[in-house]
Amino acid sequence: MAYLSKRSQQINPSSTLSITARAKKMRQEHIDVVSFAAGEPDFDTPDQIKQAAIDAIKSGFTKYTPSSGIFELKSAIQKKFRLDNNLNYDIDQIVVSNGAKHSLFNLMQALIAEGDEVIVPSPYWVSYVEMVKFCGGVPAIVKTNKSCSFKLDGDSLKKSITKKTKALILNSPSNPVGYTYARNELEDIAEVCIKNKLFVISDEIYEKLIYENGRHISIASINDDIYKRTFVVNGVSKAYSMTGWRIGYMAGDKTAVEAISKIQDHSTSNPCSISQKAALAALSLDSSVVDVMRKEFESRRDYMLVLLDEAGMEYIKPQGAFYVFCDISKTGLNSFDFSSRFLTEKHVASIPGSAFGDDGYVRFSFATSKEQIEKGIKRLREFLDLLI
Ligand code: PMP
Ligand code: GLU
Repeated sequence: MAYLSKRSQQINPSSTLSITARAKKMRQEHIDVVSFAAGEPDFDTPDQIKQAAIDAIKSGFTKYTPSSGIFELKSAIQKKFRLDNNLNYDIDQIVVSNGAKHSLFNLMQALIAEGDEVIVPSPYWVSYVEMVKFCGGVPAIVKTNKSCSFKLDGDSLKKSITKKTKALILNSPSNPVGYTYARNELEDIAEVCIKNKLFVISDEIYEKLIYENGRHISIASINDDIYKRTFVVNGVSKAYSMTGWRIGYMAGDKTAVEAISKIQDHSTSNPCSISQKAALAALSLDSSVVDVMRKEFESRRDYMLVLLDEAGMEYIKPQGAFYVFCDISKTGLNSFDFSSRFLTEKHVASIPGSAFGDDGYVRFSFATSKEQIEKGIKRLREFLDLLI
């Protein structure tokens, strides 16, 4: 439309959100849809968290708070970083936003100037590229492949740096592939970033969902130099099944935090006061609450992988998050056609890899019950029989 800004016209819709919404709508129309599209845990938000929100409402904690979040929540975040990630931040290095997506968006608004290049390893989470474009930046997509489990390494990072490169977006555990970076891999990447004065935007939203006793390592904790160049983004959505509450946070250099606080001052103001109290309760929970959900995800992952093996589907084994990135090359379909025919003909929703920058794959989420997983993969076998 001619009257719209160039900036807003450059943005593509979010396939993850639109396909999930389409699957929900089909269900409302009484179609028996299996959704492997979901980008959110299917568990209910734990009761202790809900109670904290009810208490906040009853006690009248329903007014504006500081734009960058309440002190108690920032203190809990500060403690979380210290205990979980061995990262020390002052309170004024932390800003709370409306979900990790909002933290990323505001951080990019603060960081990226017109024409700045931002390295985005592909496959990437859908919103990174659109956010960079929205800021007037240029996404520099670095393709990775199956042979390196789709992970970025120092050499390919080095090759993609130009005079205009400002930052790298790193996502571990990854959406959509599910890989996690090991310490030596992070050291390799950190070294290149330090040498080339790049900033790192480290999206760690899936940190609590790592399987087989794996441990999350934040790139910011590798050494002091990379700590200074890294902005760590995290939130409560995935770990505590709180996607609808909209609380995310970012920690890093104080100057960027000040800029983001000003952006929030003039756009959203504070994240919802009630949700902030709920997030405070979430961060104060005993780790056993998250463990129960993580164990269930691990068991569903294992179940889905066994069924995918039986169906002859190749995939990258996820170490974290709740997605399996499946190779559809032998079907002869591109990912959009695969996902849309799978939904129309077999009523199973999945996300085409093209949304993540790789057309040879589709993403299946295992954030759904084992019964649904079984039903969906049975339909997948029928679908593959038609195609191959
Ligand atoms: N980063 C990644 C990789 C995600 O998958 C998501 C999920 N939407 C987000 C950030 C944003 O999370 P939130 O719901 O807290 O905005
Ligand atoms: N992050 C989730 C996904 O990738 C939720 C959807 C979204 O926020 O884009 O499906």
